[in-house]
Amino acid sequence: MRVRVPFGRREVVGIIVECRTHSEISLADLKPISACIDNSPLPDDWLWLCRFTARYYQHALGDTLHQSLPVLLRQGRPLEARTRERWRLTERGQAIPGEQLGRARRQAELLEQLRLHPRGLATGAITSQGFSRVQLEGLAEKGLIEAEQETLIESPVADYRSLLAEPALSLNREQATALATLHEGLDRYHPCLLQGVTGSGKTEVYLQLIEAVISRGRQALVLVPEIGLTPQTLMRFRKRFRVPVVALHSGISDGERLDAWLAAASSRAPIVIGTRSAIFTPLAKPGVIIVDEEHDGSYKQQDGLRYHARDLAIIRARHHDIPVLLGSATPSLESLAQAQAGRYRHLHLTRRASHHPPARLELIDLRGRPRQGGLIAPAIDAIRQTLTAGHQVLVFINRRGFAPALACHECGWLAECDHCDARLTLHRQPPQLTCHHCERQRPLPDACPECGSADLRPLGAGTERAEETLAALFPDTPVHRIDRDSTRRKDAFENTLAEVRRGEPCLLVGTQMLAKGHHLPHVTLVVVINADAGLYASDFRALEHSSQLLIQVAGRAGRAEHPGRVLVQTLHSDDPHLRLLAEHGYDALARQLLEERRAAGLPPFRFLALARFESPREIDAMTLADAAASALRDQLASSSGQVQCLGPVPAPMERRQNRYHVQLMLSSALRSKLHEASAWLAAWLESNREARRVRWSLDIDPQTL
Ligand code: ADP
Ligand code: ZN
Ligand code: ZN
Repeated sequence: MRVRVPFGRREVVGIIVECRTHSEISLADLKPISACIDNSPLPDDWLWLCRFTARYYQHALGDTLHQSLPVLLRQGRPLEARTRERWRLTERGQAIPGEQLGRARRQAELLEQLRLHPRGLATGAITSQGFSRVQLEGLAEKGLIEAEQETLIESPVADYRSLLAEPALSLNREQATALATLHEGLDRYHPCLLQGVTGSGKTEVYLQLIEAVISRGRQALVLVPEIGLTPQTLMRFRKRFRVPVVALHSGISDGERLDAWLAAASSRAPIVIGTRSAIFTPLAKPGVIIVDEEHDGSYKQQDGLRYHARDLAIIRARHHDIPVLLGSATPSLESLAQAQAGRYRHLHLTRRASHHPPARLELIDLRGRPRQGGLIAPAIDAIRQTLTAGHQVLVFINRRGFAPALACHECGWLAECDHCDARLTLHRQPPQLTCHHCERQRPLPDACPECGSADLRPLGAGTERAEETLAALFPDTPVHRIDRDSTRRKDAFENTLAEVRRGEPCLLVGTQMLAKGHHLPHVTLVVVINADAGLYASDFRALEHSSQLLIQVAGRAGRAEHPGRVLVQTLHSDDPHLRLLAEHGYDALARQLLEERRAAGLPPFRFLALARFESPREIDAMTLADAAASALRDQLASSSGQVQCLGPVPAPMERRQNRYHVQLMLSSALRSKLHEASAWLAAWLESNREARRVRWSLDIDPQTL
């Protein structure tokens, strides 16, 4: 339960998680609770998950509880859903004809309005028609109308089947097989991985699984990536089920969040859809957890409480003894390894509803060929042919801005951020240099600060440059750019997509915002400007992530009646990994990567924890990291020795926002040993006086190094 407690001179909201009959602190030093906020306990399942999360991720329980509660509950708002008044006619009101109201003409009109709405009308709906509160109260005093308080999310209808809004599709054979397997395990922990290319009908399987779950009076929790919770996704669920579907994402107000949370906790909402943090939503009658695009990076929180929502979904399902379904076209190596080991059921959808097989990747080599805005002649020719045929083209470039660098042609100077070890990105709209790591902006220089030359040139291409080149090459075709800059204005993204869905030939230039989830039925050609970002990166997951992105982008091509083509520009068309992906697909590459990870002793075959240290002075971060490493090594030497400690080393981008970053890696083949070692390290750091000058954190199962 939540309570108010004195804290210094303030009073804050606290949560009682345990009661004891005695304390090591003397009674005189203990302060009494000032008030109790709740009269019933907060949900059990939520508290259980928070305790697990705090322990597993080595994070303070208080902060875990705090972060996973809706803001209004943190602030002490009662556990009550917001309500609104709904007005309807009383029996007397139904009997009396409007004329009898004599001179009260507006009251008579209001009475007629309500007569048209037997279920009643909300106050807002009435006042928006020009009626006033006074008129409402006038009728109420005469006993003709009455108000009822209703929660904003209405209660579930008893027999939802009779109200099934949109009929389910009849499943193809693979979908039916998958669904039958899922039906076998509705009443127990039953982890399944549903692998199917984009457009193969995964969402349809989710919908029919949910139908089975809610018909048993249970709830479904559906997690989607940040970028995937679009109005269309929600519409698809809301059209299918006439039961409340609540959505939890960053775009809702604090009040809406509280309502949704309470509706889930009380089972008034049988379906809850949300992004990462929705995994902490309490459920009165949990029935299934579905994680769509389970490989997506947005499921991992990268600061503060560094949890992974997909991993918590598995833990939570096991705790509730319910099924959990992970869906993806390109599953994470973690989930594939679980499936290979037989711990998850592996279900496949290989056919697309449109009958076109997914487009193959065609590699085209950039070496020695002149480029225009990043594009070479074969790609430009293919774009021209596609537009002439009346179709749409998607040009994918995972860099916003005009160019990723600005250089002096005279002396080789490069514009760099003063606060980070990073180059500044050149933007034209508006013209400025921006650091994509700290968001600092600088005006464009007139001349090179080193040698004074005015010959400053952009290096490489970003979305703005590709847009400019394409507009010049194809002056009669509209070019739509989609990236974080062009979609800052609310609705800009949706408006552009609506325009594109009308089907006129056009060019789309965009970053990964375009790659995920959106249905673009008229795109038949995808051009990837540069596939090389992940090939030689230092992060061991870079190749996995960049190939997932490539396959996702490729999945945009040819979803409707036309087959698609995907052209991938690269400087390394003979790279073995890239060839494997292009010639044999994601599964083949994933199997190869798993073998490499096994040989190298990397996840998912070993477990990692990363201790990060940062401070304004490099020496402070390094000194503490060194001390922590040697203390830990001593500790490990005296224990069973199944944990390795690597480092400390400077982080890949050592200086960010004028702070120096150093990291220390722990690794073990045994999760429990890694847990012990990281708990020991956290305790050591907490009790170390030097540690106060340095900001440190522990990242369990880090996704990026
Ligand atoms: P995914 O989630 O795998 O991308 P969807 O479930 O969105 O796939 O399906 C892609 C398209 O195919 C949608 O337009 C959907 O309505 C349609 N579809 C899915 N399953 C069927 C089916 N069994 N019969 C006909 N159309 C289907
Ligand atoms: Zn210069
Ligand atoms: Zn910077």
